[in-house]
Amino acid sequence: METILGMDFGTTNSVVAVIRDGNVEALREDGEAILPSVVGLDSDGQLLVGYPAWNQWTLAPERTIKSVKRRMGEDVRLKMGNEEYAPQEIAAIIMRTLKERAERVLGYPVKKAVITVPAFFNETQREATRQAGELAGLEVVRIINEPTAASLTYKGNDQRAERLLVYDLGGGTFDVSIVQIEKGVVEVLASHGDTRLGGDDFDRLLLDHICDAFEKEHKIDLRRSPVSRSRVLKAVEEAKKRLSFEPVVKIEEEFIGEKAGVPLHLTPEIQRMEYEVLIEPLLSKTLVCVDESLSDAGLRVDQIDRVILVGGATRTPMVHRLLQDQLRKVLHAEVDPDLCVAMGAAVQGGLIAGIDLGPILVDITPHTLGIGCLGEVRGVMSPYCFSPIIERNTPLPATRSELYSTCCDGQEAAHIPVFQGEDEDVRNNHSIGEFYLEDLSDVPRGNEILVRFDLDLDGILKVTAVERATGKQEQLTINNAISRFRDEHQEEARARLESAFERAAARGRKGQQEELPPELREAIAKAEQLLAKTDQVAATASPEDAEEIQRLTEELRSAIQRRSHKEIEAATDALEDLVFYLEDVR
Ligand code: AMP
Repeated sequence: METILGMDFGTTNSVVAVIRDGNVEALREDGEAILPSVVGLDSDGQLLVGYPAWNQWTLAPERTIKSVKRRMGEDVRLKMGNEEYAPQEIAAIIMRTLKERAERVLGYPVKKAVITVPAFFNETQREATRQAGELAGLEVVRIINEPTAASLTYKGNDQRAERLLVYDLGGGTFDVSIVQIEKGVVEVLASHGDTRLGGDDFDRLLLDHICDAFEKEHKIDLRRSPVSRSRVLKAVEEAKKRLSFEPVVKIEEEFIGEKAGVPLHLTPEIQRMEYEVLIEPLLSKTLVCVDESLSDAGLRVDQIDRVILVGGATRTPMVHRLLQDQLRKVLHAEVDPDLCVAMGAAVQGGLIAGIDLGPILVDITPHTLGIGCLGEVRGVMSPYCFSPIIERNTPLPATRSELYSTCCDGQEAAHIPVFQGEDEDVRNNHSIGEFYLEDLSDVPRGNEILVRFDLDLDGILKVTAVERATGKQEQLTINNAISRFRDEHQEEARARLESAFERAAARGRKGQQEELPPELREAIAKAEQLLAKTDQVAATASPEDAEEIQRLTEELRSAIQRRSHKEIEAATDALEDLVFYLEDVR
């Protein structure tokens, strides 16, 4: 079978993937699949592509070309050193580098490729991309849309039409597309975006934030010197990425400046919350595009089957939170968002070559894992608040941490009850373990406790709680943290949970119960009984029925969350009908 490469030629990064031994694989060299889309000439006129070119960009911009994808289709000449190049030529250098990488990894020559482009690219831009591929020595067997490629990594239901919302936030661009898949045909129904919005803008906001504070303190603007600016920019990008997994990070750039002969170091600490305030306006813009694309496609959110996240910047937790709030849907980011488009292009290449593949399988956590704490549950302060740490559908292994603080002056211990589940009230989730971090320092409330979850491929979860001020820590290891929870354990878990909270209460915590009207309480109790039963029916249902059950179950859960009596009743009826029908035919 001939090999057809899948190429994601991106504004910031590019990736090449291929089907090998029946699996889709992004090709890596030295463990790295990403090739920065940067081309340059070094001081001796030697060609640099990828990281070496990216490294010299801030220092020698006149010899370096970044983001050439933005210029595709334009009749311009781009200056690099003493020479001028058409955008296609620079793109061809990147594509040829990918082709050579593939040939080195595979060990044989490859001639064909499927190349992806944004859905909004016009014919001229597509043609320029095709020319670049040809200049790189490739036969471009197809140009496909990026959201289409992303959709191909998620094998859908063959029986009925499915609609996907693909939210793609990369380094330099953002777009959202509504894609329909029917009988193997993928069609982009609507696409919206901003070609000047992405993770790079987040870096710039963070750079300004850090440099403004440094200038205020030392009266030196680090942005003025290209070398310092480049150092800070790299440091903030790294910090930004870490903030996706850690609640607070420290930047450490020594000898960044000098004042009256005394060296100055840059050592700020950034809290995730502080960073989120900076990027919130940009993310709000993306949400407007989401609405616009739905309305262009003439669809409501509930007509969307899946939401797929693409692009490195979608790892930002705030993106997940805002999208979940707006769409109330499970977000799919199982396939690495950086590699998803190239992998989808490889799937398309495989289909052209006659290889039919199943879905791309990845190990993920099927449930959200987190801890119980004092916080808001459906708008009311409660001691039963579920604080997610590892979201469901996160690829394994995964490490995430969150910061909490004590709520009483002189609090001696922190209770860490661990749960899996999706409800904001821990009483509706499953308790999987608990422990105490004791002998805390005698300080006023607000003592910071960092809780870290390390989940490995075998489903073993290590939970570590650390008092930040002293480094004092306690650890708990939970085996089978992601195994499917069985109904027979539910009561036992509830009892364990109740007693865990009673013990916590005895340690000086007070809580308030949510007051609900009796009819609503009854409707919720009925719905919860049905949900428990549904789990058993789903376990033996056909894949199509299981999907329908999942959809109705999600609807019912979100109606419960919204405390909407009418919606709970309607969703309960719909789910009950299906469950009774399936029980009948069994
Ligand atoms: P892409 O163009 O899809 O390769 O996305 C690149 C962008 O994603 C860059 O701005 C990266 O800094 C950003 N990015 C990569 N990893 C993360 C992460 N863990 N958290 C936040 N942003 C990230």
